[in-house]
Amino acid sequence: MHYVVITGGVLSGLGKGTITSSLSHLLKNSGLKVTAMKIDPYINYDAGTMNPYQHGEVFVLDDGSEVDLDLGNYERFLDVDLTGNSNITTGKVYREVIEKERRGEYLGSTVQIIPHITNEIKRRIRDVANKSGADIVLIEVGGTVGDIESMPFLEALRQLKREEGDRSVLFGHVTLVPEMGAAGEQKTKPTQHSVKELREIGIQPDILFCRSKSPLTPDTKRRLSLFTDVPEEGIVSVVDVANVYLLPELMQSQGILRYVIDHFSLKGHSFREVWKDYKYNIRNPSERVTIATVGKYTELQDAYISHKEAFSHVTGNNGIAVDIKWVDSDTLIESDELLKDVDGILIPGGFGYRGVEGKIKAAKYSRENDIPFLGICLGFQVAVIEVARNLLNYKDANSTEFDPATGNPVIDILPEQKGIKDMGGTMRLGSKKVLIKENTLASKIYGSREIWERHRHRFEVNPDYIDALTSKGAVFSGVDDEGIRMEVLEFNDRENAIATQYHSEFKSRPLSPSRVHTHLVEHALQYKLKRIGGISERSA
Ligand code: GLN
Repeated sequence: MHYVVITGGVLSGLGKGTITSSLSHLLKNSGLKVTAMKIDPYINYDAGTMNPYQHGEVFVLDDGSEVDLDLGNYERFLDVDLTGNSNITTGKVYREVIEKERRGEYLGSTVQIIPHITNEIKRRIRDVANKSGADIVLIEVGGTVGDIESMPFLEALRQLKREEGDRSVLFGHVTLVPEMGAAGEQKTKPTQHSVKELREIGIQPDILFCRSKSPLTPDTKRRLSLFTDVPEEGIVSVVDVANVYLLPELMQSQGILRYVIDHFSLKGHSFREVWKDYKYNIRNPSERVTIATVGKYTELQDAYISHKEAFSHVTGNNGIAVDIKWVDSDTLIESDELLKDVDGILIPGGFGYRGVEGKIKAAKYSRENDIPFLGICLGFQVAVIEVARNLLNYKDANSTEFDPATGNPVIDILPEQKGIKDMGGTMRLGSKKVLIKENTLASKIYGSREIWERHRHRFEVNPDYIDALTSKGAVFSGVDDEGIRMEVLEFNDRENAIATQYHSEFKSRPLSPSRVHTHLVEHALQYKLKRIGGISERSA
């Protein structure tokens, strides 16, 4: 078994997750079996209760685990389905150790960070490695070297190398090389300090991934190598790329794949490009559309990263580039102005009342102006509320999440959740079967009677209102396998609008983009061409 550990230095937000994903993509497409995992040194048990404003999107896996958004990147770059075991948190580790202690499994010994916590960390890493049957496991360590929280994890990884052997564990370190002065001189000091910090805890990096504005000069590489003992071939210059899916080739062009494969003495693996056409479309889109994404976390776009990626997947497959216009839903309460020039509207998922009235207005605006529409999860629920309020004239229609006393609870709590107070882990989560009805827009989009999609919700369409909603043109074209939960909403007079209770963005992949995002983008283009009365750039 081989391990590549990726740590971060200098400051956060350097793109460690994308770098880890890109390296794993290169290794996988060289014929190796690869998996990736993330260590999050926070005390939360999982990401489920975390505010997207602080940590970005909560990503959901097939098994229903609520995890860090980097797991989404690994899935997209590796094209695999991971499980919750691939996300280790301090909370998970301590909970397990304390439970073992309570069961008397430590036979009276004093339970300590070394060896008990570090052993539990290594056990979890090896467990993922063994169950995946991978040749190489990439382990990304969240946070920055020097953080108190990450110490036990780095110590465990140091021990892992000692136990597995030098040739089985590789340490990569992501750092920043700032450029100063008019001449843009590249400064190596922050990297030197950060490597020094790593060495103090007994870890010598083998690779440096250096973020800088312009490519590292030969002289910068020489100096970095001199001070850090990382061979020059192990120093990768990571400049900004226009699209994250272009990063693997940037890294590959610097020989990093060979370097890693040689380190592990794995013979006979060379890279096979699988994204050639995909990247061509990303670089040379033949059309562009503007999609308004209406949410309340629009200042932190990482809160909607899977939607952003899903649109990128659509572009990679059909050549229609998507400019996302981030629209803060609260601004729509006053005026529709921000939706005036868009070609399509996406309302993504969300929790809590703030921002909901603006989203309901966006759904209404889309219906009244026949603008292509996609609603996801809360966006689906909002579309239902909009029909109830404005077509059925139930003025107080709402979800009981926002107004528990409403006279018209068109969206209500799932029956099995009634009475649950604890917010952690009480939702309908993960991959569930959805049955698609024949002769509907959904059946055209999916071409299948049965799909599996990922969920994360507590509330759902109240069955008491289905007849009334249907009388106004709503069609529930997808349901769960018991036929009691509404999963897909469409309208019998609108080809360009669809909404889903599930999160199709979570399963979107570069070579198999979300079907409903594709549908939105294709209709956005039609809408745009009709609106400007112009000729398509493609047909011109
Ligand atoms: N807040 C809604 C619910 O709990 C929608 C959830 C979501 O959009 N992920 O059902």
